[in-house]
Amino acid sequence: MSQPIINHYVGGAEFVGESDRLADVFDPALGVATKSVRLATTGDLVAAVAVAKTAFETWSTMSLTKRVAIVFKFRELLEAKKGELAAIITEEHGKVLSDALGEITRGQEVVEFACGLPHLLKGEFSLNASTDVDVYSLKQALGVVGIISPFNFPAMVPMWFFPVAIAAGNTVILKPSEKDPSAAIWMAHLWKEAGLPDGVFNVVHGDKVSVDALLEHPDVESISFVGSTPIAQYVYETGAKHGKRVQALGGAKNHMLVLPDADLDLVADSAVNAGFGSAGERCMAISVVVAVDPIGDDLVAAVKDKMSAIKVGDGRRSCDMGPLVTEVHRDKVASYIDIAEKDGATIVTDGRDVKADGEAAGFWLGPTLIDHVPTSSKVYQEEIFGPVLSVVRVKSYEEGVALINSGAFGNGTAIFTNDGGAARKFVTDIQVGMVGVNVPIPVPMAYFSFGGWKHSLFGDSRAHGEEGFRFFTRQKVVTSRWLDPSHGGLNLGFPQN
Ligand code: NAD
Repeated sequence: MSQPIINHYVGGAEFVGESDRLADVFDPALGVATKSVRLATTGDLVAAVAVAKTAFETWSTMSLTKRVAIVFKFRELLEAKKGELAAIITEEHGKVLSDALGEITRGQEVVEFACGLPHLLKGEFSLNASTDVDVYSLKQALGVVGIISPFNFPAMVPMWFFPVAIAAGNTVILKPSEKDPSAAIWMAHLWKEAGLPDGVFNVVHGDKVSVDALLEHPDVESISFVGSTPIAQYVYETGAKHGKRVQALGGAKNHMLVLPDADLDLVADSAVNAGFGSAGERCMAISVVVAVDPIGDDLVAAVKDKMSAIKVGDGRRSCDMGPLVTEVHRDKVASYIDIAEKDGATIVTDGRDVKADGEAAGFWLGPTLIDHVPTSSKVYQEEIFGPVLSVVRVKSYEEGVALINSGAFGNGTAIFTNDGGAARKFVTDIQVGMVGVNVPIPVPMAYFSFGGWKHSLFGDSRAHGEEGFRFFTRQKVVTSRWLDPSHGGLNLGFPQN
């Protein structure tokens, strides 16, 4: 029997397009392909942009009151039906159901933030800036905007962008990851149910072909990308070359600095939760614990002890950690454990021989703890994006900060200490975009903005918050005078009073 095919969604309906290229979509806990996704041609993408461009004419001019009612309705429907979406995420990504629900909740917070659009789109007004001259600013939508998202948060990452883009009056082409494409389609149907006009939110599936078509299309005004650093850099450079605004969020290697005075129990819980939640497939996962002497041995023992309670298995059962997204990715992550052994690190807990509560063919890899990782090793230097937690020992706070600051990435980091002065110094010294103090995954709330530094973000705009509304609008300043009888004569200079 042939697998069901996941098609595009354009103009408020399923869209097959002209492509006959398909990719497998797996159920990672079963280890089998259960569906196929259609990969768009350039022509398919061009057709979708034309639909979105037409929809922009009416959506961008619809009153704020009507727009906010639709965004609010989407929020209500999401709240009521999020269990359905969580099941879809678990089926294609593999994360456990509670974690899938968690990502939806974080995305929903951006929808709630976007409901404040009438306030966030307000301009400014200066009465009588010069005699009888008023000056005001206004924010207008860009047009058709492109969003390209990664596999690891198939609902939350698109929701970092599309609620704000739509609220601001834009129309959207979402190109989700081809590894777990169904969440995007489910959200498209939800928008329709919420009353969003057809063509405002469109989903085009695909790979490099559709990404390149988005980057090069003259009617696509902006690109919001999230994914690995090499692709983020490519998207940023190519999009900018084609005259678009681009925000491209890349990879990460997040460190947790543990000072000797930290609460060891809190540290161990935090390291385990932040290292192995979602099988380490989070851009804000902690992947390196930096232990300041002499806490290292006690810390490793405490983390090892907590890890022994993690139950790995099918996310639909009562487990803590699911499989990895694909077999290829699982094998790549496991290969770093081999490298660690060769590079002289100590494998404290080895996930390669995990016994999972699920089908034997599932893409399993258990939580892995590696101590004494040399900073020259690829295990330390590269993003692994799986359930592998490294421990690096340093002699002092200064050495720890210098190590973290020497890295290529700057997404998230955290310090664990009971010393307020040290924590305060860390917050200012560290060259990372999102910082936690005794909080391992410092993801900002929706009304702040999300984004890292260095190779974790290309472009100058982060996701959501006021910065999101700025990214998805153009500002205009109007200088206006209504003539009264006293206006007088020629004056070639600037107004002086
Ligand atoms: P990825 O870079 O492989 O894919 C991201 C998107 O780019 C997908 O839609 C994919 O189809 C597309 N793509 C893949 N190859 C391409 C190519 N050659 N040309 C053009 N487009 C291409 O990333 P992924 O494996 O899906 O996601 C994991 C990565 O995303 C990790 O590096 C993780 O750190 C990062 N991530 C970062 C953040 C952040 O906020 N900084 C958040 C989530 C994930």
